[in-house]
Amino acid sequence: MEADVLIVGAGIIGLAAAYNILRINPETSVLIVDRMGDVGQGSTAKSAAGFRAELFTSTTNQMLSNTSVDFYLHIQKDEGYDLGMELVGYLILRSRDQFEGIADVANILEKKGALRIYRKAELKNLLKMNYEFDGDEEAEVLGVKNVDYGLFGIKCGYIDADKLAYYYRDRIKEMGGDFQFNTNVERIIVEPEVKLGIPREPRAWQKVRFTGVETNRGVFKARNLVIAAGGWTNQLLDPLGIDCISKPKKRQIFTFRPKTEDQRALLYTKGFNEEGILPFTFLPTGHYIRADRRDGTFWFSYSDEVRPFSTNDEPEEKYYYDNIYPIIVKYFPQLEGARVDNMWAGLYMINSVDHNPVVFKRSNMVVATGASGSGILKGDAIGRIAAALIYNEPYADLFGGEKISSNKLEVVGRSLEVEKFVF
Ligand SMILES: Cc1cc2nc3c(=O)[nH]c(=O)nc-3n(C[C@H](O)[C@H](O)[C@H](O)COP(=O)(O)OP(=O)(O)OC[C@H]3O[C@@H](n4cnc5c(N)ncnc54)[C@H](O)[C@@H]3O)c2cc1C
Repeated sequence: MEADVLIVGAGIIGLAAAYNILRINPETSVLIVDRMGDVGQGSTAKSAAGFRAELFTSTTNQMLSNTSVDFYLHIQKDEGYDLGMELVGYLILRSRDQFEGIADVANILEKKGALRIYRKAELKNLLKMNYEFDGDEEAEVLGVKNVDYGLFGIKCGYIDADKLAYYYRDRIKEMGGDFQFNTNVERIIVEPEVKLGIPREPRAWQKVRFTGVETNRGVFKARNLVIAAGGWTNQLLDPLGIDCISKPKKRQIFTFRPKTEDQRALLYTKGFNEEGILPFTFLPTGHYIRADRRDGTFWFSYSDEVRPFSTNDEPEEKYYYDNIYPIIVKYFPQLEGARVDNMWAGLYMINSVDHNPVVFKRSNMVVATGASGSGILKGDAIGRIAAALIYNEPYADLFGGEKISSNKLEVVGRSLEVEKFVF
């Protein structure tokens, strides 16, 4: 049987695309194929699952994040479906120099009510940490910078990525969508638009269509394809000569359960949110600390520049001791002795050109990728754009009524503001 739309990837992006394709027209037959045994088992499950509405420097990312977060809040509040969302806030700590580079955007966002700018003196009353490192040679070697400002994102916090994936899965099933799990896509099938019955078709001069996928469980045919294979997307596109200007990099999370009173006090920092917990905190070095209220643990991570592009997603404990621990302890001496209790790794699909997502159509195939480490919090909007492209709609309706050109995230002729808040 030939599906109207076959989607490769049951991560947040593939799910949001499927959901929106069916929402627009429930008559469309949709099949989602994934090599894992259920939805959201790729990088979606490995994420820190933070969400931040508008807390981006690119206005496109602001729009994608704001409307997606609104949609998730709508599910949780209005539909009464618990997505585990906690509005604990984001706290982006910056040195004076760093702040000056983004002061314009920060001031606009503050005026809009999306964030609050804390000065050092106010921060010192709320957060027990080291703020100044002048004359500290070790800090200089480690690239540790002073903390002069804190940008506190208001419509920001955590979501339960599994619950979000299950929400989409269940709605997709209700609307008649099908899943084919434990199925590895080995190749995208290319055929000429008009078959001439000659050997070695398609010849280089023939127009082509993507008519299905070859998998370890046989061939699946479809009239349209959506490739939402996360960090593995270019493995499927490279053999077709299609460039998605994005490549995968390993990103890791290390968790630690507080052992001392000072460490517990840091985890349950008061004054920023109603939950009485440390907000999702980003250090001037790019390292981040998430305080997980359900588990009572800290999560530490760092998105470094110089790392091979690769689909290797094995966590490495040494990475924490070499690259994370020395820096977080400089800022938070109370974390002295914090050893790894648990760890995992996943992939960021990084668009190094501008760090906005990448969504485009070639013939009858839509590609949705390049979320650059914030695909969950923009997932709904990316899914809506992919769905609009499937239906050849020039605009996608984002949640709340805002419209975006369906070609805004196209590769060719792209001109988007470069995102500076990539963590
Ligand atoms: C450590 C870490 C922290 C992160 N923190 C955040 C955060 O705080 N907030 C946020 O918004 N985002 C975060 N992200 C990024 C977020 O996880 C991704 O942007 C998002 O999950 C991407 O979704 P996706 O659907 O594109 O990819 P995935 O979730 O990886 O889904 C792709 C799916 O495709 C399947 N697949 C791939 N190739 C094939 C094939 N050949 N055949 C069959 N199936 C295939 C995979 O099995 C997978 O299920 C983080 C990521 C990591 C690794």
